[in-house]
Amino acid sequence: MNPFQYSRAQSTDQAILAIRAAPGSNARFIAGGTNLLDLMKMNVEQPGQLIDINALPLSEIRIDDAMLSIGALARMSDVAANADVTRRFPAISQSLLVSASPQLRNMASIGGNLMQRTRCNYFRDTACACNKREPGSGCAALGGDTRRHAILGISTQCIAAHPSDLAVALTCLGARIKLRGAGGDRTVPIDDFFLLPGSTPNLEHNLQSDELIVAIEVPASPLATRSYYLKVRERASFEFALTSAAVALEIRHGVIADSRIVLGGIATKPWRVREAEAYLAGKSVQETHFVAAAQLAVAQAQPVKDNAFKVRLAQRTVVRALMTLAAGEIA
Ligand code: SF4
Repeated sequence: MNPFQYSRAQSTDQAILAIRAAPGSNARFIAGGTNLLDLMKMNVEQPGQLIDINALPLSEIRIDDAMLSIGALARMSDVAANADVTRRFPAISQSLLVSASPQLRNMASIGGNLMQRTRCNYFRDTACACNKREPGSGCAALGGDTRRHAILGISTQCIAAHPSDLAVALTCLGARIKLRGAGGDRTVPIDDFFLLPGSTPNLEHNLQSDELIVAIEVPASPLATRSYYLKVRERASFEFALTSAAVALEIRHGVIADSRIVLGGIATKPWRVREAEAYLAGKSVQETHFVAAAQLAVAQAQPVKDNAFKVRLAQRTVVRALMTLAAGEIA
């Protein structure tokens, strides 16, 4: 690991001043450190300065009739265990409880979860070419093992799957990311916060170098209350998704009035499938309709060498998630 300087910010203003004062873009905010420290030990990340933001007053979880607001420094375990989150935003709690391990969930912050880097093995191995780690160097995954890589949102430069379960659930529930930087505060819909790789896979977030996440806002709604997160993985704990689906349904008198379907584990960012949602609108609650929606959800898939199995697996994940959510109302 490279030497680095360490400082501890006491306010968001101090944190922003500190990162602006750092030379180049060689400084990082650190909260739980559960991803960044790993990457530093592997020399994938080599910051010259760490600005510890754990003292900032950004840990509050607030819920009222209209909104859930999660401070960026709230720990994953605290959000997952919050009784109001569990009852009114179940997909959020479910997505957190199937993420990482209990020890990591106690340490990792919500903001950090959204900023975590991909699990592509070639990204994490500095001996391999990787356009995300070193722009223009190539993509070792394209000629290598692609079993865990993305089939949606890929480019010729990068096919890495997005790693966060929580981000998939938050996209399903229409979350907004509150940011603060030297230019003031701004709020970004989560779908605009994560960037497609395109020709610049090194740029992953709609975030200026001096900005930090201060909170995540999730609107309360009947859809949020009837939401569900399903993750399929190779082992039961401490594992990233092969496929996942965050789904939400609003059913009135046996008819689907509204729905959300977002795929995870198979795309370069949380992948909302509006075509499938539009198909379900006005349909009766039947498995055949869920199967058709799931086919639409992966219609644009572009599997590469080793991951064609994800197309069927993702369809089945969507169908099972919707069937679970609609249990008791299926015609
Ligand atoms: Fe790097 Fe993306 Fe290729 Fe993985 S898939 S090696 S992250 S460029």
